[in-house]
Amino acid sequence: SARHPRSRTSEPSCISLKLAITMSGLRLNKRVKDHYMKLPQGGKVLVTYVWKNVPSEELQCKTRTLDYEPKSIEDIPEWGFGFHLQPEDPISDMYLIPVKMFKDPFFLDPNKLVLCEAMKSNGQPAENNLRHSCKNVMEAARDHHPWFGMEQEYILIDINGLPYGWTEDSFSTPEVTHHCGVGADKVYGRDIMEAHYKACLYAGIKIWGSNAEIIPSQWEFQVGPCKGIDVGDHLVMARFILHRVCEDFGVVATLDPKPVPEFWADSGCHVNYSTEDMRSEGGLKHIEDAIENLSKRHDYHISKYDPTGGKDNARRLIGYLVTSKIHQFSSGIDDRCASIRIPIHVWQQGYGYLEDRRPAATCDPYAVIEALVRTTVLKETG
Ligand code: ADP
Ligand code: MN
Ligand code: MN
Ligand code: MN
Ligand code: MN
Repeated sequence: SARHPRSRTSEPSCISLKLAITMSGLRLNKRVKDHYMKLPQGGKVLVTYVWKNVPSEELQCKTRTLDYEPKSIEDIPEWGFGFHLQPEDPISDMYLIPVKMFKDPFFLDPNKLVLCEAMKSNGQPAENNLRHSCKNVMEAARDHHPWFGMEQEYILIDINGLPYGWTEDSFSTPEVTHHCGVGADKVYGRDIMEAHYKACLYAGIKIWGSNAEIIPSQWEFQVGPCKGIDVGDHLVMARFILHRVCEDFGVVATLDPKPVPEFWADSGCHVNYSTEDMRSEGGLKHIEDAIENLSKRHDYHISKYDPTGGKDNARRLIGYLVTSKIHQFSSGIDDRCASIRIPIHVWQQGYGYLEDRRPAATCDPYAVIEALVRTTVLKETG
């Protein structure tokens, strides 16, 4: 495969990451904090509501006290939040509808994290609440039992705006891959990956695994396989936990698909997808049929696979460094440069799942899985 010409004419910089990270959080003594965290709660329960901000992709949270321990999602009251698009605009109200409850790995048992959908005061979903329509599509496809697993890649960014642990010299070191690497010269920030992994397990996230990625300070975790909409709920909460863990360490995790322009690795969010037919004896035929349908609807999928209608992916899917070309659909057995890959073990056993490698790390998981089901199960075209 073609190598990227290493032409660097300008100063190394992460243009897309003008981050104002400060050490303020780290100045606070975590051991002093421990004393307070151990104080009894007097029978009360802290519930932290998590939702996607309107209109951005950023996650937000706020915490309230309940007099009882919620046993299921129905026990958690709706809540509201105010937002405004411009500082001078009046504040509008949105409603937070609790949709999934997890254990809280920060405040610990019996406290909860709760994922919410944002709804407008007229009862319609917020414009960027894509879970709502996804739920209807998953409902329409329920007899096909779609499962998904998503591979979230991310890069840690330090206070100097460079990938965590990098110096300006890092930009001139040989281009090598540290995928699944071990050793202080190969991977930076394993503490964060491991803390995130344990926190996800504690919370009840269906975390499948985690590994070091191509460049030092790039990591990946996977969730799944999950039934239908669950993969979105588990991925979004796993992202929240990642950002929250990073906050404790004074580092930022970016999902930007190409945070170091013209350089090395991209961050994607491969989605692994199967229906009951694909998972059964003879399933390869159904996988191939799905790929055939997907091949006819490439542009539609690209428009759904990042929150910018394809602009994020235009920086990432460039046809080298193990990515496909954004405007060209391709598929192959064990081909990691294709839009869609049939994993080798799936091909060998004759059934299983397919991997769509196009979604960007910034993708909205609900938009991605909705598009897949529309094209392959509901057989939509155009
Ligand atoms: P890769 O080889 O592409 O790096 P990973 O091991 O990182 O693959 O991730 C595999 C993903 O496939 C996981 O998210 C897992 O949940 C998912 N997966 C496994 N089996 C299925 C299945 N039958 N249907 C959908 N997803 C699946
Ligand atoms: Mn992977
Ligand atoms: Mn990966
Ligand atoms: Mn990758
Ligand atoms: Mn993959």
